[in-house]
Formats: sequence, C-alpha cells, structure tokens
Amino acid sequence: MTTIDTRARQAVKAMATLTYKPGKPIKDVQRRYKLSSVIKLASNENALGPSPKAVAALRKTTGQLHRYPDAACAELKAKLAKRLKVNASQIAVGNGSDELLVLALRAFVEPGDEVVVAEPTFLIYALQARASGAKVMRVPLNNLRYDLPLMRAVVSKHTKLVFIANPDNPTGSYVTKRELEEFLRGLPEQVVVVVDEAYYEFVDAKDYPQTVSYVNRAPVIVTRSFSKAYGLAGLRIGYCIARPSLIAALEAVREPFNVNRLAQDAAVAALDDRAFLERTRRMIRQGRAYLGLELAQLGLRVVPSVANFLLVELGPKASQAAQALLRRGVIVREMSAWKLDGFVRVTIGTMPENRRFIQALKEVVG
Ligand SMILES: *Cc1c(COP(=O)(O)O)cnc(C)c1O
Repeated sequence: MTTIDTRARQAVKAMATLTYKPGKPIKDVQRRYKLSSVIKLASNENALGPSPKAVAALRKTTGQLHRYPDAACAELKAKLAKRLKVNASQIAVGNGSDELLVLALRAFVEPGDEVVVAEPTFLIYALQARASGAKVMRVPLNNLRYDLPLMRAVVSKHTKLVFIANPDNPTGSYVTKRELEEFLRGLPEQVVVVVDEAYYEFVDAKDYPQTVSYVNRAPVIVTRSFSKAYGLAGLRIGYCIARPSLIAALEAVREPFNVNRLAQDAAVAALDDRAFLERTRRMIRQGRAYLGLELAQLGLRVVPSVANFLLVELGPKASQAAQALLRRGVIVREMSAWKLDGFVRVTIGTMPENRRFIQALKEVVG
C-alpha cells in the first residue's frame, strides 16, 4: 500500500495502518478461483436484491440526471417524517448512514476531544473518529454485548460523542430499552449519543428500545439505512432523526448535494414497498432459524443475533476455513480485523444460499 504523504494532517498520517477492508467482490472471487457461481454472504446485503419499486423509480429518474438533486431531500424527509411521526426538521439524509456518522464527528468533535466506542464494533466509528483527530476511548464488549455501564463510566468532561450500534455489527447483539435509558440518564451536557440502527427493520425483540421516541428528551441521533432491509446498498442513502438543533449542526457541515437524485427517488419508492420489506424480514427470520439449528448441530457457537447476519465461532482455524469456503464459492467475513480471531460473520441469504453455505462448511470443518 502507498504511504500517506507527509503533508497530510497529523491524524491522517496516523491512519496508515487503519484502512477499512470491505467484503470481497463476487467478480474477484470468480476470477481468482475460476468459479462460475459465487455467493456473497459477507457484507450484510439483501439477498433478494433491491426493492422492485425502487428499481422502477430509478428507471424514471434516469431521464432527469442532467438536473442537480434536491439539496433538501424534501420529498423523502416529508415521507419519513410522516412515517416516524416526527417533524421534517428532525431528519437529515446522508450518502449512506456512514456519511451521517462522519458528519456527526465533523459537527461535534474538536481534535483532542474524546469519542467513546465499543471494541469490537462497527469499524467506521473508530476509524473516522481517529481521522477527525479525536481521542478514541475503546470499551471492551462483555460476553459479546455492549457494556453500557462501563461505557457510561468512561464518559468524562472531555467526551463529545458516543457511538452505540443497536443492533451491533458484527455480533448481532442488541442493547435493551432499560440499558439504554440507564445510559442516557444524567449524561454530561456536552455529550451527543449516536445510536446506529442500520439493522432496525430486522429486530423483533420486545425489549428493544424505540430510540426515535427519545430524541426530544435526550441528545440522541438515531441513524438508519436503506442499505440493508431495503436492498439499496449500492445507491448510498441513509437518514437520521434527532432534535432540530442537532440536525441543524449536521446540515451545516454537509455538502449541498450529498445525496444523489437516483438515491432520493429510489428511497421514496422503497418506503412504499411494504411487500418487499415483509418478504425480506420473512427470509431473515427463516434463515436465522435454519442456520442457527444447522450450526448448533455442527457443534459451533453462534452468537444470538437480531440482525441479518450471524457471528459464528470456528476456532483457531477460522481464517483457513474462510479461505476454504472462498474456494467453494462462498464469501463470508473473516473477523481478524475486528480482533475476533476464531470467528466468521455470515450474512443470512436466500434459503438456497444458506444451504450452500452449510454444505460447504460441512466439507470444510468436517
Ligand atoms: C452496514 C452498516 C452501516 C452502513 O450503512 P450505509 O447506510 O450503507 O452507510 C452503518 N452501521 C452499521 C452498524 C452497519 O453494519
């Protein structure tokens, strides 16, 4: 990898070894192992493809691509506001929910400020916090769940931002309503809490908090995504909900045309595609049960997940197992970048995909 130019900011130069490594693309694996059929269960994408209503909307929009997109995302915000029973001034839209995480850092964190994250969790929090020059306070998981009491204890007068993934990626575990409320109680005034709900649509648990209902009472920014349940990862669009003053801070630091026209129109259409969302949820529920059972029968530990993926312990040979799966045309995520050696993360796919994964895994670990 090329070294970072010496003229880069201090915080940027310190990033040299900290790059995000995405899941392997299907085409690369096909070429490398000369395979005609490869399935990707590595990036928590929707195996059903994009919402058909979104695709139909995209076809119409292509004729308008000479026009700049709506800088205010007004149509999408109005639709979301109605759906979520909030005001449009309580919503911001981003180029993926990833962008909203970065905007939160840009809006609220000065170099040297503290940002509290769990470890391991979604890698973008620590990477982008480092890039912004923040001091990253890492709080270990407890039995592969967020340890909110410990994270709360780490919050100091220097803390500006806390990231909470709920559900968490890569564990698939979640923070309960009680745990979150306990955490928010009496937080120091300068702290903003980002609750990342990229997998919100998959959660059925009764004690999962409806965090959007807190935004008027607590300094919480709830981020959501069209990448997972709506199947629009390739378009890059996400949104967040918070009190208007927090939203105003995010709006102040974003680029005027951060969300492209295709993404806006597709997202509006996807919100109306209830049938697609239901099919997706059903597929995940069925796949989660099937994989849980099969993996248990193989004697493997599976972390209880409320999301569209499973974290599976394969032991010391996990990395080789992931390689062996790759040669059989099954891409899963090897977890050493998260310091979860011994684990792989597998996205729940269609039933034929799930069966193929189990078949390949039996060959590999058997
Ligand atoms: C996938 C994912 C995101 C990214 O969502 P985009 O909207 O595609 O940027 C955010 N947070 C977590 C925890 C994720 O797993």
